Amino acid sequence: MIEKPVDEILDRLEARSPQRASPGSAIGLEPSWRRDPFTMLIATVLSQRTRDECTWIASEKLFSEYGTPRALMNAPEESITAAIGAVNFHKGKARAIKEIARIIHEEHHDAVPSDIEGLMALPMVGRKTANCVLAYAFEKDAICVDTHVHRISNRIGLVRSAGPDGTEEQLKVVVPRPRWRSVNELMVRFGQEICTPLRPKHDLCPIQEFCDTFLQESGRTGR
Ligand code: SF4
Repeated sequence: MIEKPVDEILDRLEARSPQRASPGSAIGLEPSWRRDPFTMLIATVLSQRTRDECTWIASEKLFSEYGTPRALMNAPEESITAAIGAVNFHKGKARAIKEIARIIHEEHHDAVPSDIEGLMALPMVGRKTANCVLAYAFEKDAICVDTHVHRISNRIGLVRSAGPDGTEEQLKVVVPRPRWRSVNELMVRFGQEICTPLRPKHDLCPIQEFCDTFLQESGRTGR
């Protein structure tokens, strides 16, 4: 694999747009609720396999009524389901976030675990969600590999990996540690607007000269 100028790539993504992703936000829509590790954890669970606009609607409704572990744990499951009706799999998510709230209130004294093992012990919290919470809520060095980060990193040729865990592992080698947290917030909006899953907009891309996919498709070199 040809070595990539990772800092230059991230600098250009940073310069491309002031829009940054964060749990519960969508393009042009910022959350109105208080951001703390608990609300950011719940918003990240809500966002699984769901469009950002729908997560924004659901989290606005949910946190206007139940913004603390105690309030959410005591809420009727049907009310939670109704509040988060905009997201996919809302019934299962309602059950899971009520249980998350109970565990955090009863077993962690209202403090969200700040390590990956503690987070992954919670219902519906896998590696991606845990890393998102570590990066966004606790500002720890973590790379949250969602579908955009996985796709874009492989297209550019920063990594060569069939799955998100491998992508995370390889990104941790090539991306300087102080920039780990910014990978997700930069690539999510870039992946929604430019490097889209279908028909990526190569002509609008500020990093095309470094991208293996573009170089291959345009008949130049690449990986
Ligand atoms: S050149 Fe195309 S495939 Fe490569 S990062 Fe840019 S938009 Fe994505």
